[in-house]
Amino acid sequence: MKPLIIVGTGLAGYTLAKEWRKRVPEGPLVLITADGGSSYSKPMLSTGYAKGKSADDLIMADEVAMADQLKAEIIQGRVVSLNPEQRQVSLEGGQILQGSDVVLALGADPFRPALGGDASSQVHSVNDLGDYRRLQAALTGVRRVTIVGGGLIGCEFAHDLRTGGYEIDLVEPAGRLLPSLLPEAASWALAGALQAHGIRLHLGQGVSAINYGDTRLQVSLSQGETLEADVVLSAVGLRPRITLAQSAGLTCQRGIQVNRYLECSRPGWYALGDCAEVEGLVLPYVLPLMAQARALAQTLAGQRTAVQYPAMPVVVKTPSCPVVVAPVAPHTEGSWEFEIEGHDVKALFHDSKQQLLGFVLMGRWAQQPAEKAALQKKLPDMLAT
Ligand SMILES: Cc1cc2nc3c(=O)[nH]c(=O)nc-3n(C[C@H](O)[C@H](O)[C@H](O)COP(=O)(O)OP(=O)(O)OC[C@H]3O[C@@H](n4cnc5c(N)ncnc54)[C@H](O)[C@@H]3O)c2cc1C
Repeated sequence: MKPLIIVGTGLAGYTLAKEWRKRVPEGPLVLITADGGSSYSKPMLSTGYAKGKSADDLIMADEVAMADQLKAEIIQGRVVSLNPEQRQVSLEGGQILQGSDVVLALGADPFRPALGGDASSQVHSVNDLGDYRRLQAALTGVRRVTIVGGGLIGCEFAHDLRTGGYEIDLVEPAGRLLPSLLPEAASWALAGALQAHGIRLHLGQGVSAINYGDTRLQVSLSQGETLEADVVLSAVGLRPRITLAQSAGLTCQRGIQVNRYLECSRPGWYALGDCAEVEGLVLPYVLPLMAQARALAQTLAGQRTAVQYPAMPVVVKTPSCPVVVAPVAPHTEGSWEFEIEGHDVKALFHDSKQQLLGFVLMGRWAQQPAEKAALQKKLPDMLAT
């Protein structure tokens, strides 16, 4: 009997494997991973430094424990090509595996903008345990860190490393923080809170070059300023890993395109997690991938099930000024109403029929779970039945 093959052992691959195993106790299962196969919670990567956590501390179970728990074979190796017709995957080194079905849970790559300067290759980005380990080594014994990107991951790292005692310069070209998640007034409140936490903000300018200086890296900004840094961390976004699927002829746009059943454009092939574009939506967060994993496990166990997304607010882990946001899609008709007091923000977005379509809770408002739950209930589903 051919196994179910899952390529990827991130949260998407392992959550699917666990959900499937609940429904298919004895079926053969193979997981393939280009990393070590340890199970860990990726959101912990941007909150671990202040707590003094090493990469090993973040591991919840290693690949041997996971293989045992899932009654699965876990293969460490990189998949280099796919054969959609035969439901085959080929690994570096020549091994070819054939599955009953094949699931792609390949994640996303950090976007690396082209930078000038003789030290541009020294930029870190953190998207897995190996990256975290390398960044932690680079941070040992130094003080000044420049973070490029004021989105969710950049703000979280800035806050965490500042709490851990580093001097932080946070550079965001868009001119305000969390530009794709927050309305402008809330961005400014968050900026004030991060400044009060001791983070230096450089908004509305990008990094043009990074050069070696006598003792530190010289980070040149587009408006002429130069920052000194021991370490530069880039957090300017992620790109779904689509190259493998694209080369094999599976339809891709921003991500590997799948329908509500997580089916790719060829039978027997599925995708979920950060690599997948589900009905046009690329949502690189934990809650969507869990909803996908539950639905896909049912389908793979024989009961074809469409994924449903309720409203899924995003939590930004900046503890001195926590943020919960249910973002509003660009160009949505409607308007924001704000209640702002210092860093405490409650903002609601309604359409012309007074239907709540999004909200922001920041500071003390974000620490009231009942408020969040009440608002969340009023939001429409993101993908309804
Ligand atoms: C620092 C950080 C903080 C975050 N915080 C939050 C948060 O607070 N809340 C939230 O909801 N989301 C958060 N996210 C996003 C969330 O963690 C991701 O959406 C989720 O972990 C993605 O899981 P995944 O399994 O799709 O991808 P990944 O975890 O990237 O896993 C991809 C897997 O595919 C494997 N792979 C890739 N290519 C190949 C190949 N060719 N051959 C074999 N194997 C391959 C990799 O080795 C890996 O095992 C955060 C992300 C980061 C980076």
